[in-house]
Amino acid sequence: MKVVTRFAPSPTGLLHIGGARTALFNYLYAKHHKGRYLLRIEDTDKERSTETSLKAIFDGLKWLGLSGDEPAIYQSKQINRHKEIANELAISDKAYFCYLSQLEMEKIRKRNKEQGKPFRSPWRDPSFNGDRQEKPVLRLRMPDEGHTIIQDLVQGNVRVLNKQLDDLVLMRSDESPTYMLAVVVDDHDMGITHILRGDDHLNNAIRQTKIYEALNWQPPVFAHIPLIHGSDGTKLSKRHGAIGIDAYKDMGFYPEAMINYLSRLGWSHGNDEYFSKDQAISWFNGNSIGRSPANFDMKKLITINAYWLRKESFESLHTQILAHQNLHENRQVSTKFKERLKILLPQLLKRTSMIGELASQLDYLVYDGRPKIESENCKFLTKQSCEVLKLFSEVIDLLPSDSTSFQAFINEWLVEQQLTMKDLGVPLRVVLTGSKNAPAIFDIIQSLGFDEVKTRINEICI
Ligand code: GLU
Repeated sequence: MKVVTRFAPSPTGLLHIGGARTALFNYLYAKHHKGRYLLRIEDTDKERSTETSLKAIFDGLKWLGLSGDEPAIYQSKQINRHKEIANELAISDKAYFCYLSQLEMEKIRKRNKEQGKPFRSPWRDPSFNGDRQEKPVLRLRMPDEGHTIIQDLVQGNVRVLNKQLDDLVLMRSDESPTYMLAVVVDDHDMGITHILRGDDHLNNAIRQTKIYEALNWQPPVFAHIPLIHGSDGTKLSKRHGAIGIDAYKDMGFYPEAMINYLSRLGWSHGNDEYFSKDQAISWFNGNSIGRSPANFDMKKLITINAYWLRKESFESLHTQILAHQNLHENRQVSTKFKERLKILLPQLLKRTSMIGELASQLDYLVYDGRPKIESENCKFLTKQSCEVLKLFSEVIDLLPSDSTSFQAFINEWLVEQQLTMKDLGVPLRVVLTGSKNAPAIFDIIQSLGFDEVKTRINEICI
């Protein structure tokens, strides 16, 4: 059997972490089995569906490389087909028209609930002769006897007694199909064989199975995945970072990192922490999806991003840094920038996880001449420390060029001057980079070159 999965978002909000993970799991499962992964937009709720949300979903999926294998299906366009099936169910007596008013319905529901019974309408009985003033809804005739089992890849066998199931509505009184009916018809028509989704849909799956059975259709295999929780163990909310996927893109996360992280939310492959989408495809066979909720952990996501940042090529990082740099008016990017970056990048990558964070600290490499000095660092440029820097600038021309020798030379010079590395290091770092939190001073000197070091000291310490 060829595996066909789908992601079926409703365009009523952003594409969140949870939705993106559902899309990814369906994608991975299909690709692992050399099958197809499809997209269906469940846009029947016209009031809540928006263009903005639709765009956010498409953009987010595209960024993650999770666009469907075929153009998306729009549920709202299948409405005639849903009605056709609803009529078939009515004709075959698997469903019945119910003319109860809202009030009557509520009374029965309440009474039955008190008696521990499911909702049943008197209109189930073909001989019932009630008032037909109301426009009817179409209800599925649930069996009273027996039970329904779904075999779930994550939850195992889930068994429910049929007498616990309400006669659910398939078509409303305005003849619009309900979600329950639309999902079943669309999944069947799209040839969906496997559905991986949040376990908040587990109850729906039981009811949907009854619709499949009424139609003599083969239900798909389900995998209901525990919902994602925040790091404090409560349901994921905005407070925990449940923002749209686009926000992660804007924060500078790499799609590879997002995929790597999302796939680990509720699924694992041994102790593997860092892996590519292709590796995940080769491993994702539907086993090893956890039964307890995964916790969203921003710190872990950042750590994974750091791994992917380090895997970027030098050329690519160089381009990305320039693109991120808020290029200042009237300031030319130094012709030496690339050379400088090459020397310092290994150091810089040890200290950062995000490309934006990295790029924002590099003005001192991108531009020649004095850097912008952060105001809190001006205090390190006292008269005394400037004296030290000026003294140092006088010996720069004498420095040997290879890095081990110039380090030894500077250390000896400090001893001669009865100074410590602290006397030179902090003010020099401030003068060269604008900050005192830059990489090791010898690496900075090597990266900028002796002439540039001298120029900066002399521009600032006059
Ligand atoms: N449209 C539903 C949702 O966004 C998903 C339906 C399904 O996966 O069956 O929650």
